[in-house]
Amino acid sequence: MSRFFSQKYNKLVPYTPGEQPKDMQYVKLNTNESPFPPLSSVVEALEYEAKKVNLYPDPDCSELVKIIADRYSVDPDMVIVTNGSDEVLNFAFMAYCDKDTAAIFPNITYGFYPVFADINNISYTEVPLKEDFSVDVNDYCNVNKTIFIANPNAPTGIVLSLEQIEKILITNPDNIVVIDEAYVDFGAESCISLVSKYNNLLVTQTFSKSRSMAGGRIGFGIAQKEIINDLNTVRYSTNPYNINRFSMAVAKAIIDNDDYYMNNCKVIIDNREYTQNELIKLGFECTDSKANFIFAKHSDISGKDLYEKLKQNGVLVRHFSKDIISDYNRITVGTKQQMDILIDNIKKILEEIR
Ligand SMILES: *Cc1c(COP(=O)(O)O)cnc(C)c1O
Repeated sequence: MSRFFSQKYNKLVPYTPGEQPKDMQYVKLNTNESPFPPLSSVVEALEYEAKKVNLYPDPDCSELVKIIADRYSVDPDMVIVTNGSDEVLNFAFMAYCDKDTAAIFPNITYGFYPVFADINNISYTEVPLKEDFSVDVNDYCNVNKTIFIANPNAPTGIVLSLEQIEKILITNPDNIVVIDEAYVDFGAESCISLVSKYNNLLVTQTFSKSRSMAGGRIGFGIAQKEIINDLNTVRYSTNPYNINRFSMAVAKAIIDNDDYYMNNCKVIIDNREYTQNELIKLGFECTDSKANFIFAKHSDISGKDLYEKLKQNGVLVRHFSKDIISDYNRITVGTKQQMDILIDNIKKILEEIR
């Protein structure tokens, strides 16, 4: 840290993204990316856009906003598009939390929430999950705080039902409830259908996981228009050109062929069920994940050892050192072929330790 660094950041612990090692080619199952390439229409959109890169992109992002609004059957003034959904989540922390309006979220969830709170000088409460790793909805009733819940949750993959989310919305009428649906396309029910009914609901989604676009940085939020106005005030006050020309063009090309991407999600769901069954046969315990990852532990080997041995064998998964979940690994669901490589390696590792 230099002596010039602002006091207000000197204790900030930044978010740690999943490792992207460059020493060798791994079967990469650690950052929940899609194993499927984008369609050629994405590449064509990029080439076309390249000729116009001397011009600023549309700060209103109006064409893309309209396309996303149509896709989800809401009005365009109920949509904001952001640089990954991380950005809209940060905007929500900026817009709806204060010293007196703290944030609340589970103790085991997306690791960026406490970092967003910290950088914005917001205090927060981390609520323990139940023993089975599910969110206890009662912990979020009448809390008088801004609520952040990932549904499905990360890294457990466990979902809340719409009824459970409605209970949170109804009991916190004076607070914003943010439902982070980064993984919703892999088998959970979206609560976008609740947005017109609840003026305190903000739903966020991303193209990163289900639409092969982690590198394109496209996320969006859906809420009633007053909320979207607030978020746009923050956006225009930080970075009006948050969506660059390329991301905008690519996002449009993706929604035009959304069937392909949604069909890929079905393949991932099948591969998830297949892999989970194989792991259970090998003695693993898995959470009931409705995301594009599996969260699994084995009583014969620690989470860290398994992670390390897999890495030595060229398979990268994600291990979290936090005590409560350190027995587990989060394994991104890839192609059937990648899953078979994973399973073969795990079999080999389990045999070696016997
Ligand atoms: C990946 C992820 C995000 C954000 O991803 P972006 O690439 O910024 O869109 C948000 N929430 C959760 C729970 C995630 O796993």
